[in-house]
Amino acid sequence: MRPLVRPALPPQLQHVPAARLLVSAFGNFCSFCERPLLDSLWVWNAKTGQSQEGDRCTSEDWEHLYLLDHNCHEAQRHASPLDLPLLLLPTDTAAFLQEGPPLLYILTSMSRDQVNEEQKLIQSDNVDQVLISASDYRAQATIRYFALNTAYLVKDRLVVPRQDHLSLLDRRMEQRSEAWREATQAALDLREAGQSEVVKALTRQLRQLIGTTGFWSTCRAAVDLVLQDPQKLQEIFAANLPADRPVIAGLAAKHAIHFLGNGPHQPFPGTAPF
Ligand SMILES: [Zn+2]
Repeated sequence: MRPLVRPALPPQLQHVPAARLLVSAFGNFCSFCERPLLDSLWVWNAKTGQSQEGDRCTSEDWEHLYLLDHNCHEAQRHASPLDLPLLLLPTDTAAFLQEGPPLLYILTSMSRDQVNEEQKLIQSDNVDQVLISASDYRAQATIRYFALNTAYLVKDRLVVPRQDHLSLLDRRMEQRSEAWREATQAALDLREAGQSEVVKALTRQLRQLIGTTGFWSTCRAAVDLVLQDPQKLQEIFAANLPADRPVIAGLAAKHAIHFLGNGPHQPFPGTAPF
């Protein structure tokens, strides 16, 4: 889970829809699973546990608002309300990385069974997927609440209803595993690069690749395994580049700097320093 710094909301933005402001401040990603928000998005209120689709949610509760993709939105609808006050949130200082990430991402071999409506096995195969784990109880609650390992994980294997498989219902684990593989290969290329100009170009490309694939924390864990270079991690995964063209005209510069949107100029806006 990418740690986030929430910018203060200037008074003139406190009654407008929150969704696009959150995208601008935090990037175009689910705040919990980090999937890119390519289809639709929800604004989730950590104080109430309620979520609203698209632009229906205003910014009054700005301090408590986060972005969700479809899968995390669905997962929290079925989550235990008892977990709500326990959750580790991306803006909590305990989520910051000074003492290592509280959620651990690791590529793991496991079996994946497809079953029909009667729970009969149709097909079984072995897959390498990125599992998320935590020792901290708040981080564990967050994994549960948003089903970050999907509802398909049963102990140490995946049991996927055939219908879900065919309809691509929840691909978060598969997608972050693909992101892991892409990031690992790019990091290996970077490690082998000799000339400083090539290193610089590959570093910039890797940063933008991860800005496109999403799954920042997964990619950070994968790249760290290959490079083991904290300074390089900073270059690839740290937050914003300085920029001077405000997206919201007329906003004071001290506020505008936090709402520059994300894209090639800043793939991961709002990332807490590490
Ligand atoms: Zn999500």
